[in-house]
Amino acid sequence: MTTSVRRLFATFALISLVPVVALAVVLASVTQRQADARGLAQAKAQAKLLSLTVVEPLLDGVPVASSLPAAKRSVLGSAVAAAIHNSEVLRLRLRDTSGRMVFADDGNLGTGEPDDEAVEAAEGVTKARITTLGADDKNVSGPSVVEVYEPLYSADRHTVTGVVELYVPYAEIAQDLRVQRRTLLLVLGVGLLALWLALVGLASWISGALRRSSEANAYQARHDALTGLPNRAQFSEHAGSAVARGSAVIAMIDLDRFKQVNDTLGHAIGDHLLRELAGRLRGHLREGDVVARLGGDEFGLVLFDVHGEDEARCALGRVRALIAEPLLVNDVPLAVESSVGFVLVPEDGDDVEALLVKADVAMYAAKRGHFGVTRHHADHEQYDTASLRLIGELADGIAHGQLVLHYQPKTELTLGRINAVEALVRWQHPERGLLYPDAFLFAAEQTELVDPLTRWVLKEALLALPRLDPTGELSMAVNVSARSLGRLDFADEVLHLLSSTDTDPQRLLVEITETALLVDPARAATTLGRLARAGVRVSIDDFGAGQTSLGYLATLPVHELKIDRAFVMAMDREPRNAAIVRSVIDLGHNLGFSVTAEGVETAQVLADLQAADCDSVQGYFLARPGSESAIIERLRTAALR
Ligand code: C2E
Ligand code: MG
Ligand code: MG
Repeated sequence: MTTSVRRLFATFALISLVPVVALAVVLASVTQRQADARGLAQAKAQAKLLSLTVVEPLLDGVPVASSLPAAKRSVLGSAVAAAIHNSEVLRLRLRDTSGRMVFADDGNLGTGEPDDEAVEAAEGVTKARITTLGADDKNVSGPSVVEVYEPLYSADRHTVTGVVELYVPYAEIAQDLRVQRRTLLLVLGVGLLALWLALVGLASWISGALRRSSEANAYQARHDALTGLPNRAQFSEHAGSAVARGSAVIAMIDLDRFKQVNDTLGHAIGDHLLRELAGRLRGHLREGDVVARLGGDEFGLVLFDVHGEDEARCALGRVRALIAEPLLVNDVPLAVESSVGFVLVPEDGDDVEALLVKADVAMYAAKRGHFGVTRHHADHEQYDTASLRLIGELADGIAHGQLVLHYQPKTELTLGRINAVEALVRWQHPERGLLYPDAFLFAAEQTELVDPLTRWVLKEALLALPRLDPTGELSMAVNVSARSLGRLDFADEVLHLLSSTDTDPQRLLVEITETALLVDPARAATTLGRLARAGVRVSIDDFGAGQTSLGYLATLPVHELKIDRAFVMAMDREPRNAAIVRSVIDLGHNLGFSVTAEGVETAQVLADLQAADCDSVQGYFLARPGSESAIIERLRTAALR
């Protein structure tokens, strides 16, 4: 118990003692009053008995008067003497109804003055009080007595005939009552003490329980429940003190393919693995170093006494090796690789938040490039945290079937019919709703994620084709990003997909943006060549927006130019744009390509394009991109016309 808690507890014990003591005092005085009342009642009963059995029979209903016959006086005298002898009474006097004394056992009739209490008793009210014998005589302090004035009645008991004044010994009664009261007070006292102790005990137990629960809460707020390691909040604090100390390594570790472990072996094994790794890391680190679990399969490290990049790489390399040591799961060794990103304090900055983001970014770069351990570098900055998160979510989104395809028709102008549709990807994000390519494609194209995305779109589009057009006349245009185009096996993959979906290669149109061609022109030419030889058609998307050399363009197996919608949309307002569009149409035709204009939003633009001899058009004016069912409906109504 800390001193302040102890002091608080002592204060509570003292304060709670006050009402207990007050209650004890009240009880003591109440019992005293009750004892007195009982004593008085007992003495009165004794006096009444004496009056009824001894005095009244002697007087025989005759009013008490100074002329009490001598015979009666003598009998009364000896009866009283016997009663005094038996300690039933200590003194007895008779008074007439006006309160004047007419008989006294000791013969002393006093001043002859009437007594007030006797006068009251003469009205039929018994008067009694506790006093001492001889209290009237100030100097004498006799035994404790009850002084009783008892009315005497006539034979018919209707008329008060006088008053008998008795002094009943009280000491014995009082002693009995004292014993009884002492026992009662003892019981009450012990009870109150027990009550107080119980109160204090209860308070101590409750405060202990509250303290323990608040300590547990404080612990949980700063620790990871699964591994018991510090959590992200505490890690940030440690990173903060590392920055304040001026020299440290802050690192973030992410396990590779941990999700796969969880998915294939189950969460229990995943949890077991995380706990095991947490134990290894904790055991490996030096005193003062920090390892934290930041969530999921991510750990954070703060290492002190590591100087310079080389030392940091060595230290973190050892950590990776430690993580990679196989763990036996059901007798099967399970090994996980990890990616580590780190920053050096103070070399990489002195703002904790920024340093943590940098370490995170470096970790991501390490993961992406399979570098193992990477220090943050300015080039990594393109992966800002928002797109990092998006990349993570998109990976899940693709795996969990959250991607959707919409289709936009492309209309051939000479015959006025829809001859192709373009597949446009959307992401049905679980929280943010339907996302368009501009919201997530950039993030995908930064990473290898764009490959599974392209693969998914291609397969989905080819599978949809027979549903959209069972007659086999419609073509499907699919956008392919530079990264996918640059992959050595891309052409094989497309050809394999065509054969596995039993699609005529002629019906697939691959749309490559001008800029994508320029990323690796030689590789692009090879891939497109292979595809074209197999019958796949190639379209140069967003043409006019990039700077493709016309010489290079002429060497490519291109079938179509798609004029960038920026020129087309503004054609009817900007004569220069109209001129560019017309020139591109001419250029395309001269090189033997078909030309499509995208972004046709008005009838005027459509008319201008027709006049310019454009081959095909695509745009909101003709049809917006729509879901598969919407496009099927659209194709059906178009066919009826
Ligand atoms: P894009 O290939 O040039 O596709 C045409 C874009 O223009 C689509 O936008 C379409 O909705 C929009 N558009 C069509 N008609 C009009 C019009 O009349 N006016 C205007 N203002 N816009 C029109 P979306 O679907 O947002 O796609 C944007 C870009 O994302 C596409 O441009 C394409 O480069 C890329 N993209 C879409 N799907 C995929 C995909 O599956 N893979 C890859 N790699 N890229 C894709
Ligand atoms: Mg396109
Ligand atoms: Mg385009």
